[in-house]
Amino acid sequence: MSEPIISTSHLSKLYGSGETVVRALNDVNLEVLPGEFLAVMGPSGCGKSTLLNILGALDQPSEGEVWVAGENVAKLKNVDAFRARTVGFVFQLHNLLPTLTAQENVEVPMQGQKIGRGERHKRAAHLLELVGLGDRRDHLPSQLSGGQRQRVAIARALANEPALILADEPTGALDSQSGEELLALLGDLNRSQDTTIVVVTHDRRVAQATGRILRMRDGQIVDDHRVDNPLEEDLRMLAHSKLGQSLLDGNGQPGATLLSTTEREVLRRLLTRFDDAPGSEAPAEVAELLAQLNERQEVGAKE
Ligand code: ADP
Ligand code: MG
Repeated sequence: MSEPIISTSHLSKLYGSGETVVRALNDVNLEVLPGEFLAVMGPSGCGKSTLLNILGALDQPSEGEVWVAGENVAKLKNVDAFRARTVGFVFQLHNLLPTLTAQENVEVPMQGQKIGRGERHKRAAHLLELVGLGDRRDHLPSQLSGGQRQRVAIARALANEPALILADEPTGALDSQSGEELLALLGDLNRSQDTTIVVVTHDRRVAQATGRILRMRDGQIVDDHRVDNPLEEDLRMLAHSKLGQSLLDGNGQPGATLLSTTEREVLRRLLTRFDDAPGSEAPAEVAELLAQLNERQEVGAKE
């Protein structure tokens, strides 16, 4: 078996001190293998960005150890070199430089590396081709759509052929179609370039297109599983939602406006069975209902 590309051991992150201390991460133990495509989900404030920032050496752990691509990130000798070569970041807001063209933006991370000007140019052009923007190389960010800007940001993240891409809600500011296209692109890159990708997302469809879903709550990993068939995933999604939790508790109040008494009872039985025996097949008739419920809940769960 290959060595994990990410490995955290009892990782915690505390912000502030005394009475006001916030435990943004609380004993996170995580292993990611090279080539995995992983989604991180969870409510706002649960520690997703903190985790990504620490993995990318943008922030330091308070406790525990973090190894990325064979390096202890708390003890990096050259943090800039690590950031430039080992990880590529994609943020919710693309952070492109507004006065530079798409081509120039993609070249920025290659400056300071030992890459000649001609080679830089060629590589950036190739990367823009790869993300479907070969004909937009000379456009400024302001001349591109939101989805196109994010694709430039992905090309830029790939500039130094990092082993790992960390994407923090890259589809958060996009409409759903652009979001799905962007995700398909990440999936392609994951397969064709063998890049390990960790993506934070609130979007159920985005998460289900990856290979593994990690769910966080209050700084901890509360679920970590390989992506299964869509129905099973919808059930899991529902089980972790407010409505799902209240159904499992036998207190259907929050669902009262969404569901009839019978529907609540059917779902509660389904979720209970799912809790007892994950992997068991759920009746196909409920698939549509589940999809609709998750959709309605998503609207309420967005930040
Ligand atoms: P998420 O990305 O899941 O929404 P974050 O990782 O941004 O959550 O934040 C986790 C927790 O840590 C939150 O309670 C947040 O308020 C707190 N936090 C994050 N960054 C800082 C900071 N620089 N100073 C103090 N508290 C912070
Ligand atoms: Mg965040």
